[in-house]
Amino acid sequence: MTNFLDTYRHKGLRKQLTNTLKEKGITDENVLNAINHIPRHFFLDSAFDEIAYEDRAFPIGDGQTISQPYTVAYQTQLLKIKKNDKVLEIGTGSVYQATVLAEMGAWVFTIERQKNLFEKNKKFYFRNKYPNIKFFYGDGFEGLPTFAPFDKIIITAAAPFIPPKLLVQLKVGGSMVIPVDEGDAQRMLRLTKQADGSMEEESFDLFSFVPMLKGKNG
Ligand code: SAH
Repeated sequence: MTNFLDTYRHKGLRKQLTNTLKEKGITDENVLNAINHIPRHFFLDSAFDEIAYEDRAFPIGDGQTISQPYTVAYQTQLLKIKKNDKVLEIGTGSVYQATVLAEMGAWVFTIERQKNLFEKNKKFYFRNKYPNIKFFYGDGFEGLPTFAPFDKIIITAAAPFIPPKLLVQLKVGGSMVIPVDEGDAQRMLRLTKQADGSMEEESFDLFSFVPMLKGKNG
């Protein structure tokens, strides 16, 4: 069960969370506005109602998690989202990250490999509010060749390596933000496709994600 009431208390906690993210170094106003606007507790069981605005990851069932708000903000900021960007997301999970992107005006194509989560997302509370999110059940390593190329690609699970098929689906000038395995943690990388097809690679902080797994489940 989820509590779909957004009270003044929730709004206050959300404002505090946004300030915390600012203090931690998030500067993109559009990212901060989206996080301040979206009721994160709508993406969680009501058991998390009181703590939904802490800067923490939480379980969403099926062994998966909703990413920490700082991580969502960090990845979204690295993507430099512009209105009408066409974005591929690997790992729909709770749909929170996809909603942040959609609130910023992106067209979001999001893939989930777990059938249970994909089925749950069919009942996503904001389906009508954000028709710019399209849901797909599949293996993120394959991407979505039919809908390629994308302006931006975001991977929200720990990638064992950079999936070559995803690089092909990126536009020239487009970027992919991906946490790549480095022992116990993952290094956040931003890869930007150059005119000659090569990739410029930038390296950022270490994070901890659930693993990106091969194939579909269910
Ligand atoms: N973006 C999500 C984070 C979910 S955690 C959110 O905002 O809540 C990562 C998700 O990636 C999990 O739901 C997991 O099932 C999914 N995942 C892992 N490997 C995948 C793959 N190869 N293709 C698609 N989804 C994958």
